[in-house]
Amino acid sequence: MGENKEEELQRLRDKRKRVARMKKTIVLTIVFWMLGSLFAIIFLCVRVVSLQKQINYIADQRYIENQQNAANFKQSLEENDMSIYTSKDNIAEAGDIPRVYLTFDDGPSERTAEVLDILDDTGIKATFFVVGREDDESLALYKRIVDEGHTIGIHSYSHKYSELYASKESFINDLNKISGIIQKATGVKPVYYRFPGGSSNLVSNTDMNELISYIESEGYQYYDWNVASGDATSQAFTTDELVNNVMTDVVKYKTSIVLMHDSSTRYTTVAALPELISKLKAEGAMILPITEDTMVIHHNRVTN
Ligand code: ZN
Repeated sequence: MGENKEEELQRLRDKRKRVARMKKTIVLTIVFWMLGSLFAIIFLCVRVVSLQKQINYIADQRYIENQQNAANFKQSLEENDMSIYTSKDNIAEAGDIPRVYLTFDDGPSERTAEVLDILDDTGIKATFFVVGREDDESLALYKRIVDEGHTIGIHSYSHKYSELYASKESFINDLNKISGIIQKATGVKPVYYRFPGGSSNLVSNTDMNELISYIESEGYQYYDWNVASGDATSQAFTTDELVNNVMTDVVKYKTSIVLMHDSSTRYTTVAALPELISKLKAEGAMILPITEDTMVIHHNRVTN
């Protein structure tokens, strides 16, 4: 009997232990489950906040993109119809000899030497609105432009709208930088300026009138354009179309400032140039570089 009691007690002890273990397991399971849920809640909250931020960011980007597209669309419409920028006293009359100023923006580039060769072969002087490049080849091209009798003008150092037009200060810094580079490379102080996107651009964060007043106070004359070759549009005109774009417009005006581009990807501009020059000559046009005698063409100061 004594042994049986002993066994009974042992069984009871074991049972208690088992119950205690089970309780412990249950409590631990509940604690882990609660902690797990808590972490899951915290994680999901953080995730929701970050996704909301991403959604807001994407929405902002879409908004900016739409604004930009609308601005670009308006600008491309305006580029195709320059007549809105033409004052009455520049409308051609019978017997007028058209004065045509070929202007090349965005160089120097891999195409500049070809453009200069064509101008040299055809005995034509043009105007180059250049951007800032400081490699030896580009510095030599600035000099070649000037040495060969063309007019060199400024088209900003960076040509990055967001930097250039961020504030008046950034515009002035940019202007001083490119002006210094050109003077050092050519010995000539540039006095002509073409605003990237034109003075009528819709992307500047700074009031364009403020920038215009500034460059004029610094002795610069700015030139927009009243004839667009179309070589910068997304329409990808053929060389014949580029020539036609210019030829149909230059007959309308006494003075035509023709917008063209000197950049590595503009093969058609270079390809169109000899034919354009010969057609202009056949039309009896005077093809000239911009000088102080050139009629100014400004997009935002039309007096009709
Ligand atoms: Zn440009």
